[in-house]
Amino acid sequence: MLEGLMQHDYPLTLGHVLERMRGMNGDGEVVTLTDDGLRRARYAEVAERVDRLCAGLRELGIEEGDRVATFSWNTQEHLEAYLAAPCMGAVLHTLNIRLFPEQLEYIVNHAEDQIILVDSSLVSALEELAPKFETVRHFVVIGDGDAGSLPSVVRYEELLAAQSPGFAYPRLDERAAAGLCYTSGTTGNPKGVLYSHRSNVLHALGACLADSLGVSREDRVLPVVPMFHANAWGLPYASALAGADLVMPSRFLQPEPLSRLIEGERVTVAGAVPTLWLDLLRYADEHEPDLSSIRLVACGGAAVPRSLMEAFEERHGMRIVQAWGMTETSPLGSVAHPPSEAEGEERWGYRSTAGRLMPLVEARIVSDEGEEMPWDGEATGELEVRGPWIARSYYEDPSTDERFHDGWLRTGDVAAIDAKGYIRITDRAKDVIKSGGEWISSVDLEGELMAHDAVSEAAVIARPDERWSERPLACVVLEDGGSASVEDLREHLSDRVAKWWIPSEFAFIDEVPKTSVGKFDKKVLRRRLEEGELEVAGEEVTAS
Ligand code: AMP
Repeated sequence: MLEGLMQHDYPLTLGHVLERMRGMNGDGEVVTLTDDGLRRARYAEVAERVDRLCAGLRELGIEEGDRVATFSWNTQEHLEAYLAAPCMGAVLHTLNIRLFPEQLEYIVNHAEDQIILVDSSLVSALEELAPKFETVRHFVVIGDGDAGSLPSVVRYEELLAAQSPGFAYPRLDERAAAGLCYTSGTTGNPKGVLYSHRSNVLHALGACLADSLGVSREDRVLPVVPMFHANAWGLPYASALAGADLVMPSRFLQPEPLSRLIEGERVTVAGAVPTLWLDLLRYADEHEPDLSSIRLVACGGAAVPRSLMEAFEERHGMRIVQAWGMTETSPLGSVAHPPSEAEGEERWGYRSTAGRLMPLVEARIVSDEGEEMPWDGEATGELEVRGPWIARSYYEDPSTDERFHDGWLRTGDVAAIDAKGYIRITDRAKDVIKSGGEWISSVDLEGELMAHDAVSEAAVIARPDERWSERPLACVVLEDGGSASVEDLREHLSDRVAKWWIPSEFAFIDEVPKTSVGKFDKKVLRRRLEEGELEVAGEEVTAS
């Protein structure tokens, strides 16, 4: 091989993002909505606080490779942690604040987190769990609120104030771990996706491409999608790299404060799941806020209804662009910009797909028999992807090796791809339900339902829902002579699973259909639901 004479050893690390914030992008702005109104800081100031945070974390004993967890909203401090942890050689672990306590306990202990940076408004969610965290040595509390009964509390602002400016950043390998995010979009325990500096930097560049989100210095970006969910779709790193301003909504995720933020801060790019935009649409129809500054709303995490895109475009001049991705894909995998030659109905056809693959991401569809299917827009199979920001394995979980093969990630999504590379998701092979952008494990719900004395079998499937994208429908077989009402079953679940997991709809059936090897055949149940053959009970209905 005649080797190219370029600087191949120049590492793609997040330190470049930080240095850009400090220097060339120093006048970029981070705006955070707080109880006391808007707080503003320049990127240069944020970079200086990142140095202090690094020094403070080092003082608290954080070394290279250690996991630093966050339990927080989208705020300036969260952005500071996004840069500090990886740039000092540690790993940023973003904890999902919506998880059920048992899941959080599992994740923190599995990741062996050393420190948790927690927003004071969320302290109460960790108080009872704190003694169960085996490796956590300090809780760094952000904000002035009460630290409750949390042990070993350090105040974020005091930690920063006690440091001198500057920090001696280590030179890192681009393959070093930078971030960790667990996904429950699989069966069994949540799985850790361990991003590297290289994958985060390349993904941020990808988000800046004109045919994806095109984040640029001209933008004011509003990540509504949480920073604990797949890096807020890469928006923070992409914005900091490009020099776009960031508008952080913190915990004010209701339509009213969001539309005030969009209007007042002249937001140009935003990202959130369909449920949130549905709520905003209702509000916008009534109050007519000025959303005209927005040039692109990235929407994904679940199928985006065409009616939602049309309504915003026609009534409020706001363009929603559908994207597909997963925690495992950093997450941007495909973005649905239609080909320029497409018009009218054809254009909407493309916009209603999951989109066209991002450059550098490859995909294939594979049938149940393991055969690669053609890109003809018709043939379906499991979608598999590979690329520089796609996971090659989960963190410390060999039981999941079968999710990866020959260098490809099996997504668990069933899709068709057309000749132009537009992906249409048609089904899901994985046994999970996505409600309002967050996962519900059908297997866990089934286990808890079957723990009820009167229940002999339970199979939970997703039911399409306009507001939440999907809601769980529990198909329950009662024991001979057993009796349980919908209310009994809901009551039974109430202290076993998160409140938002509890199905409001149940179908009492005689038997759960089974495959030839005796597994629940949910395909049959889904078909019966579609064909209106399942009698769905949502209220006080007693079956015996
Ligand atoms: P998560 O890891 O929580 O971001 O979830 C990723 C999963 O969400 C994908 O594997 C899909 O099942 C689903 N998903 C994401 N985007 C879309 C989309 N545009 N259309 C349909 N499903 C989607």
